[in-house]
Amino acid sequence: MKIEDIFQSYKDNIMPTYTKVPRIFVKGKGSFLWDIHDRKYLDFFPGWGVGNLGHCHPKVVYAVLDQVKKLIFIPNNYYQLPQAYLAEEIIRVSFPGKIFFCNSGAEANEAAIKFSRKFGDGRYEVITFENSFHGRTLAALAATGQKKYQAGFAPLPEGFKTVKFNDLSAVISALTEKTVAIMLELVQGEGGINVADKEFIKQLRQLCDEKKLLLIIDEVQTGIGRTGKMFCFKHYGIKPDIVTLAKALGGGFPIGMMIVRKEIADTLGPGMHASTFGGGPVVAKAALAVLKAIKNENLLENAKKMGEYLFAGLNKLKEESSLIKEVRGIGLMVGVELKSEGKVIVEKCLEKGLLINCTHDTVLRLMPALNVTKKEIDKAIGILKSII
Ligand SMILES: *Cc1c(COP(=O)(O)O)cnc(C)c1O
Repeated sequence: MKIEDIFQSYKDNIMPTYTKVPRIFVKGKGSFLWDIHDRKYLDFFPGWGVGNLGHCHPKVVYAVLDQVKKLIFIPNNYYQLPQAYLAEEIIRVSFPGKIFFCNSGAEANEAAIKFSRKFGDGRYEVITFENSFHGRTLAALAATGQKKYQAGFAPLPEGFKTVKFNDLSAVISALTEKTVAIMLELVQGEGGINVADKEFIKQLRQLCDEKKLLLIIDEVQTGIGRTGKMFCFKHYGIKPDIVTLAKALGGGFPIGMMIVRKEIADTLGPGMHASTFGGGPVVAKAALAVLKAIKNENLLENAKKMGEYLFAGLNKLKEESSLIKEVRGIGLMVGVELKSEGKVIVEKCLEKGLLINCTHDTVLRLMPALNVTKKEIDKAIGILKSII
């Protein structure tokens, strides 16, 4: 196929559900990508939050190659080794609980919603927040507090109430005798890198304890070291009832999971929920390699340090430029709010070989790999500076 034929094939054969960047990527290593013309790019938004280890981490490559030779797939009615090892490791680094395996973030959140309804035994309402994002399947979409994603897909499943973020009185006003759970991201990713207040989260936890509600933390984007701790909830000193994970968990392989507090986990019994591919041996092995790499390569520490370095660089840029309104986030989950649209800046960065993202129209989103170096951050800041 000629290059034009590839673009044409997309046009002819693939649904136009994505706004596409006109580049064909063929190779990745660490924080770098190469396109079909062998041009090199510095990737500061690897895989939409999937690439916490960067591209093609050698330990993930090795683990997967090793596993595909032994057993590619075995359904969940049998036992296997990688899933058992992965579950043990995840519980060790998260909290005493039990895991349901699936393949994506939306599915993990669907599982959490179904779990809540079963747990609620008649109570079914879930309170979620403005500017949240929980996925594209119907219930996850109903939970998502952004009208732009919901337009055209009515009727959405019932039982969701969306209230203002970081506003306890709004949550209390939304409570009814049908409320069963409160679901949120601690840093809203798609919503513009909005950080939850510590006090608000403490109060939510208290409220959940008083009213016997489940506190569901969607860590699909914030999880697996992104914020400088393995899970973002660890910054808040609270115990969640449910945590959902996906994106970075498999080092690029599709795996999602819901972790539920041990005391209530058996609410879902045999036959009540399932996923054919969920936690298959290859993806489980990949996820296990991710967790090992984070530990062995001290990546939480690096994410914290490099996050501080990146924030310092961006804050300096803010002082020098009237275009930047605010720099916010935690660890290596960074948003730069502009006073104007961010799209043109993202395009100019692309021209100069830097890949970043813009979310919520005016917020540049930078989420480099956890093993990013000072040199790479300097390069990215340099490119941003030349544009801004
Ligand atoms: C990406 C994302 C999802 C959806 O994940 P998919 O794997 O695309 O279904 C859900 N919640 C959050 C916070 C996300 O960032």
